[in-house]
Amino acid sequence: MKAVAIDGPAGAGKSTISRKVAQEIGFVYVDTGALYRTVGLYVIGKGADTKSADEVVPLLSEISVEMKFVNKVQKIFLNGEDVSDKIRLPEISMAASDVSAIPAVREFLFDMQRSIALKENVVMDGRDIGSVVLPNADVKIFLTASPEDRARRRYEELLSKGVEVDYDTVLEDVKQRDYNDSHRKIAPLCVAEGAVVIDTTGNELEKSVSIMVDTVKKLLNIK
Ligand code: C5P
Repeated sequence: MKAVAIDGPAGAGKSTISRKVAQEIGFVYVDTGALYRTVGLYVIGKGADTKSADEVVPLLSEISVEMKFVNKVQKIFLNGEDVSDKIRLPEISMAASDVSAIPAVREFLFDMQRSIALKENVVMDGRDIGSVVLPNADVKIFLTASPEDRARRRYEELLSKGVEVDYDTVLEDVKQRDYNDSHRKIAPLCVAEGAVVIDTTGNELEKSVSIMVDTVKKLLNIK
């Protein structure tokens, strides 16, 4: 099996770009952030404190997370319910970032990520894919952009989905998540050994996609 690991901060265009790269090379796209979001959604639904390991850990035994691929499109199920849309709400982003700092949560989701990559050729995106989940990935990419650029993209994406937000709040959220993700003790966001860094600041989406597709094809020796 072949694996492409794509890591980077929130809003660098990882999921959109990774999905297109996967389509282009015929691999399954796996968005691992969705797993942390699903745990965050459940914890919020229970009224528990997403930052408290004491409150979150006992809830893990009540959670069944399943990823299904319908025509290579990932759907995510929480205790049997399709939550693919619900997990995209802004408040769930922060909850995901909070619970992702809890070691037991990372362990809980680790096997699922590993086992998908054993069964399928994957383009997997997240924060620790090249460093922890798939350290032997055939290709590792660290995709980044300035915080302002990333906040603008997320802001426009949320507006287009009819979610009311203001830009400054989104920017603060991006910065806070960057800080959380790169300062947590376990599996912090970092450039994995051997990763190619691609900065998409100022690029149109199409340009970033074509840079990524070219880089991945070259590294995988695909024409
Ligand atoms: O990628 P996305 O923004 O959906 O991820 C939500 C949160 O899940 C991130 O802020 C990060 O804290 C966490 N995450 C992680 N490890 C991954 C993927 C996501 O810690 N592999």
